[in-house]
Amino acid sequence: AEAESRYTAANPASLARHEAARSAMPGGNTRTVLHYSPFPLAWSKGEGATLTDLDGHSYTDYLGEYSAGLYGHSNPKIQAALKRAIDDGTVLGGPNVYEAELAGLLKSRFPSLQALRFCNSGTEANVFALMTAQAHTGRKKVMVFDGGYHGGVLYFGHGGIPINLPLDWVIAPYNDVEGTLGLIRQHGAELAAILIEPMLGSGGCLPARQDFLGALRQAASELDIILIFDEVMTSRLSSGGLQAALGVTPDMTTLGKYLGGGSSFGAFGGRADIMGHYDPEKPGYWPHAGTFNNNVLSMAAGLTGLRDIYTPEAAMSLNAKGDRLRDGLNALGEKHGVPFTATGVGSFIGIHFTQDVMDRPVHDSAEEEARQSKIHKLMHLDFIAAGLFFARRGYMALSLALTDRDIDRFVAQTDEFITSRKP
Ligand code: PLP
Repeated sequence: AEAESRYTAANPASLARHEAARSAMPGGNTRTVLHYSPFPLAWSKGEGATLTDLDGHSYTDYLGEYSAGLYGHSNPKIQAALKRAIDDGTVLGGPNVYEAELAGLLKSRFPSLQALRFCNSGTEANVFALMTAQAHTGRKKVMVFDGGYHGGVLYFGHGGIPINLPLDWVIAPYNDVEGTLGLIRQHGAELAAILIEPMLGSGGCLPARQDFLGALRQAASELDIILIFDEVMTSRLSSGGLQAALGVTPDMTTLGKYLGGGSSFGAFGGRADIMGHYDPEKPGYWPHAGTFNNNVLSMAAGLTGLRDIYTPEAAMSLNAKGDRLRDGLNALGEKHGVPFTATGVGSFIGIHFTQDVMDRPVHDSAEEEARQSKIHKLMHLDFIAAGLFFARRGYMALSLALTDRDIDRFVAQTDEFITSRKP
């Protein structure tokens, strides 16, 4: 209560914006993940790794727009690409000079992408991939995983949400080879697709085990099920995504987030025989529409980002930054003898106030969930007061703009938090 009233007193302009927003939007919100109590900070500016809020405070940004902000704020190369594109007109209504080069670059880097098409968001990419798999196989069922997040209408935390797309879902246990193979055997000839995040992102930054993905790969091949990796979040984890790093190649891949250079972005692609249905010169082709699929701003910024900034070397060095942070944080749990674990891969960190993090979501009792969310809230408010910003649930997606000093500062702040709040 004390941390919350200090927060409210310190942020009158963000509070006023929130109150005004409530008159037109439920809860003053148009993107649920951005809400936290008592009200979220509203941003006026971002530069490098620094965010400035409406009340003029500045923060080091460890959230990185839930991974879409990989390049850091107002990256000069991205901004120059956007300005060039704006000068030449942004709604041209035809192919532009950027899209084929961006597609070619993605194809050259991601092992599964023999061909791909663009769309507007990660959600849309997953919807198209699933419909493609159904049409290609002539089957209806889709396997997804408990705790998976594939978009606003494709969310499987706690079993699902009322507004999920009404597909014929089979929900399998993540990282559980026997449990999942059992379900695949049971539904086998009816499964069109298996859709999986190679690291549960929203679900707590829990990486898939290589043997688990390998077992899915084998079962999918045997039963002609389309294996789809949702790499909307994990595509940054090596130059060819987590699929290249783990050496497991799916039939299809979906992409999003930073690949639009900070503008809206989605892509789906995969095996040439599957994606070939979308060739409009072929008799009986399948149409794929979307006014902004090749919008100039996303294509131009995405191309500059991937070609000129996020080189394979840049990907490795960003992973190293994440390892430094994760290792630093995990040493604190031991040092203080408190239940505290940092999970994730490379530049993704999940903070858990528990010792025994499983390799799949744990469905805790209501009391245990309340205990953990209380500590998460306290940490979030304490860190904001100290000028460090990340997601309340304990999620971070590091950007290229963060330095080793920023990383070490987060560890030091966490050390202080645990010391001051230890019972
Ligand atoms: N898939 C994963 C793994 C994601 O993390 C997200 C977004 O957080 C999505 C899909 C949805 O992407 P978008 O928000 O662009 O629709």
